[in-house]
Amino acid sequence: MHIIDISVTLRDGLAAWPGEDYWRLDKTLRIAEGGAANVSRITMGLHCGTHVDAPWHFGLSDQTAESLPLDRFITPARVVDCTGVAQAITRADLAGRIDGTAAVLLKTANSGTLESLASFNRQFVHLDPSAATYLVESGIHTVGVDYLSVEGFFAEGAPVHRILLAARVAIIEGLDLSAVEPGDYTLVAAPLKIAGGDGAPCRAVLIGQTASGRVGL
Ligand SMILES: [Zn+2]
Repeated sequence: MHIIDISVTLRDGLAAWPGEDYWRLDKTLRIAEGGAANVSRITMGLHCGTHVDAPWHFGLSDQTAESLPLDRFITPARVVDCTGVAQAITRADLAGRIDGTAAVLLKTANSGTLESLASFNRQFVHLDPSAATYLVESGIHTVGVDYLSVEGFFAEGAPVHRILLAARVAIIEGLDLSAVEPGDYTLVAAPLKIAGGDGAPCRAVLIGQTASGRVGL
């Protein structure tokens, strides 16, 4: 079984959406300081690092993280190469490339920049509304992107989130697809079961072909 980690590492210095909580890990107990064990606590925004968005994030329904359907996050998925897109992924960039799959992960020039601890990039590659509409029309139930939003930083009214979440398309943000070849995989990216969560962190991996050519798992 070939497992590819497509999560970013939660650690000091990880870029966060401007104005939102970032990652912080504090010590509760340390053996080196006389504690019985090493114990820590975390403070983080629910949209920090690799995470999913719940429909309630934009008020489209009452559905929050604990009740998101897991078949959206444990599913066959296709990684689509969009590394040639400079700014906004459109319908034309996806047309004819997402047939026969239910989940689409978009690999762009963003991949690797979060993991490298680069500062927040307001010019990140994102979806435009025509691409979101095309995903819905194509019956896609999950879309994943490799920066902190499916939406452009300067978009007003969050149209891409609204189109996707209103159609119950699951959104995964903050992936790192830099080590992944475009193609078909099994995605595992279950969100943490957080009651009332507008989003939730997840550990995202792809399971790929084994040397024998059979899909692992
Ligand atoms: Zn989010």
